[in-house]
Formats: sequence, C-alpha cells, structure tokens
Amino acid sequence: MSENNCIFCKIIAGEIPATFVHQDERCVAFDDINPQAPVHVLVIPREHLESLDEASQRDEALLGHMLRVAARIANERGLSESGYRTVINTGAGAGQSVFHLHAHVIGGRALAWPPG
Ligand code: 5GP
Ligand code: ZN
Repeated sequence: MSENNCIFCKIIAGEIPATFVHQDERCVAFDDINPQAPVHVLVIPREHLESLDEASQRDEALLGHMLRVAARIANERGLSESGYRTVINTGAGAGQSVFHLHAHVIGGRALAWPPG
C-alpha cells in the first residue's frame, strides 16, 4: 500500500531515484541522500508504516527481517569488525523527518554515545 506524498513510497515505486543496495519482497534498502558516515543506508518496508510506533504484532516478522537485512548490509560493507549502529528515529522529537518507517545503518567511522 502506497501513501500519497510519501518520499519513500515514491522511491519504492521508482518515481524518485535511489541507489538500492538490497531489494526483496518485504523490504528495500538504499543509500541515504545525506550520509552522516561513510556507510549510511536506510532499510525500509515496502508497506507504508508511519513509524515504529504504528507497527503492531502482525509486523513482528517484518521488523525482525529488517534488522537481519541491516546486519547483512553492514557485513557486506565490511562493518562487522569495526562496528555499526542501527537506528530507528520515532517521532519528530526524536529526529524522525520521513514518516515511513526506516532503520538507519550507519558505520565506517567512530560513533559517539550518547547520540544528540
Ligand atoms: P529520519 O530523520 O526520518 O530518521 O531519517 C530520514 C532520512 O532520509 C535522512 O537521513 C535523510 O537524509 C534521508 N532522505 C530524505 N529524503 C531522501 C531521499 O529523497 N532519498 C534518500 N536516499 N534519502 C532521503
Ligand atoms: Zn511511505
């Protein structure tokens, strides 16, 4: 199900270009347009879910799949040893700016903690 005026639904539909690094029947992953680290990939479900807060019990397998895809991409980019961060911002107050659920996969440089 595609949501009107959702940038990520448009990327999935091929209406906005993106550099895809993974595609399967449940999710896709592509490079972030404004990378915050040498590796910055977004893993998103094909189905439009606004945020993690909107996910329900029926989405449990999908969420697990997204995290496994995130780990596979990190591994393919050589981040397993150096480490990487998988982030889901939920709500504007936490920095969510695109309201289609997505997991950031960030790595390739030292990452500070706590985040801002
Ligand atoms: P959020 O702030 O919602 O957690 O993350 C949204 C991310 O989407 C940001 O890192 C932003 O750079 C990225 N982004 C926004 N618009 C586009 C776009 O059109 N293409 C790509 N590849 N990334 C985008
Ligand atoms: Zn969407």
